[in-house]
Amino acid sequence: MPAKKKISELKTYQNKRDFKATPEPRGRIIEKNRKKLGTNIRKSTNRQKKLLFVMHKHAASHLHYDLRLEIGGTLKSWAVPKGPSLDPSVKRLAMHVEDHPIEYGSFEGVIPKGHYGAGPVIIWDTGFWQCENEGDPTPIEAYIKGDLTIKIEGKKLKGLWKLIRMKKSNQKDNSWLFFKKNDKYAKTDLDITEKKPKSVVSKLTIEQIGGNENPIKQRKKSGIVIINKENKRNRKRNK
Ligand code: MN
Repeated sequence: MPAKKKISELKTYQNKRDFKATPEPRGRIIEKNRKKLGTNIRKSTNRQKKLLFVMHKHAASHLHYDLRLEIGGTLKSWAVPKGPSLDPSVKRLAMHVEDHPIEYGSFEGVIPKGHYGAGPVIIWDTGFWQCENEGDPTPIEAYIKGDLTIKIEGKKLKGLWKLIRMKKSNQKDNSWLFFKKNDKYAKTDLDITEKKPKSVVSKLTIEQIGGNENPIKQRKKSGIVIINKENKRNRKRNK
């Protein structure tokens, strides 16, 4: 691909949201600021950079998980309706959605009713990922190809995973598959989403996050945990 081609874009993300109402971050593309942000955590151990990995759990109109991988200065995002499975024979549908800002990786809280994605969100898992495709492509190259082999170092998810676009030839096709590769972290007898339902940050369940109030105030106070009383009502309504 041409070096200058824009691979990340937050306009769609920003246009869908009213930042006066939602506690979600507005965000910006921060590739250039990577050094400023600091992040010893992103130091490379081998040739490969450690990039941010997040799996949100999101009780919007339909409960789903959101897989987010830092690629090209934003979080590339996929909605995974059934969440991850540690069983390599179980391939989960992952619908590509709009790029989210890197800051979204630390977002946990309640999107108010009437707004895009209304409902509570927890950081179900987070950590880092590295591109492990053969031939050592950059993460962006592997992403464009629609075939990512990713090594995840999360608190819950670990080891090698695949994320592949179902129609490899069509970059605009949003349907991908997310599944575990066979390694020592693969398990066929454990539902990780049931076994470990809580946020790795607040240690709260999505139901607990959904039970509090005033998202904006909470955001200012804590920076992370945002809660909203109206939420129980919303979730019922959205069902
Ligand atoms: Mn979502």
